[in-house]
Amino acid sequence: MNSAIKAKIIEEKKRSDTLILAHTYQVPDIIDIADVTGDSFFLSKKAAELRARRVIMCGVRFMGETVKILSPSTEVVMPAPEATCPMAEQISPQRVADFRRENPDIAVVAYINTTAALKAECDVCVTSSSALSIVSKLPQKDILFIPDKNLGAFIASRLPEKNIILWDGYCPVHNSLTGADAAKIKAEHPGVPLAVHPECPPDVLEYADMTGSTSEIIKYALAREGQVIIGTERGVADFLNREYPGRFIQLAPEKLVCRDMKMTTLENVYGALRGECGEVLEIDETLRVRAKKSIDNMLALG
Ligand code: SF4
Repeated sequence: MNSAIKAKIIEEKKRSDTLILAHTYQVPDIIDIADVTGDSFFLSKKAAELRARRVIMCGVRFMGETVKILSPSTEVVMPAPEATCPMAEQISPQRVADFRRENPDIAVVAYINTTAALKAECDVCVTSSSALSIVSKLPQKDILFIPDKNLGAFIASRLPEKNIILWDGYCPVHNSLTGADAAKIKAEHPGVPLAVHPECPPDVLEYADMTGSTSEIIKYALAREGQVIIGTERGVADFLNREYPGRFIQLAPEKLVCRDMKMTTLENVYGALRGECGEVLEIDETLRVRAKKSIDNMLALG
């Protein structure tokens, strides 16, 4: 049954000259029909490089916004408009603007997992793979890092020369892990390395043999001969195990599922392709230009 709808999607995307982007956390059926798969910034760069006329973004809202910020003339459609990243919505842009007014000498750094309105309030964006390098290059010692306190704490632990002020934001999926979860799986699989995402709490990172972004975890896992325990959203282990069944062990599979990332289905992708459902994203041009500046600064420093 799925193969029938997949065939219809492939035909429809060709007919409508549409590029389908899928974040690695999407379910395998969505990965199958995507033209490009990867992390959020990789996807938005690809859309810009390919000068896509129209994009279907299989992911959460801030990812579609990032595509639109970089490619304003592209029509960006969210097949599941209700799919948002809870972390990206945890801070109001007004609170950041107020903080900045009270602390004019501070640099405001935002994780790419933020809304366009938050990007517009910060000096520079970072991805989980570029965060250390970019923060280390900033001239300011005092840095407000939004919204993820865990990624911020990871950066602070590696850059003691900086004074990193953390916000109380977090990814509810990665933040649900505990050190006990990590200890348990390490004990169950002695000698198997654990690769974790820096959105996990610090007591989980203590057990990690490697800490890195989604793409760094995939690279690390594929470069090794044997098994690897994957400590990030379970789409990554599903993705890896399709090529090498059973080689990659999921840490806490019951916890590491992003509900929003699973809202995209073959049915709503097909409907969005045909203009029958989904939402075409619009961003106010003044806001877009301000948000793009923080991404341009990331590219200049990265
Ligand atoms: S896994 Fe976490 S950071 Fe990623 S979209 Fe889901 S809630 Fe947001």
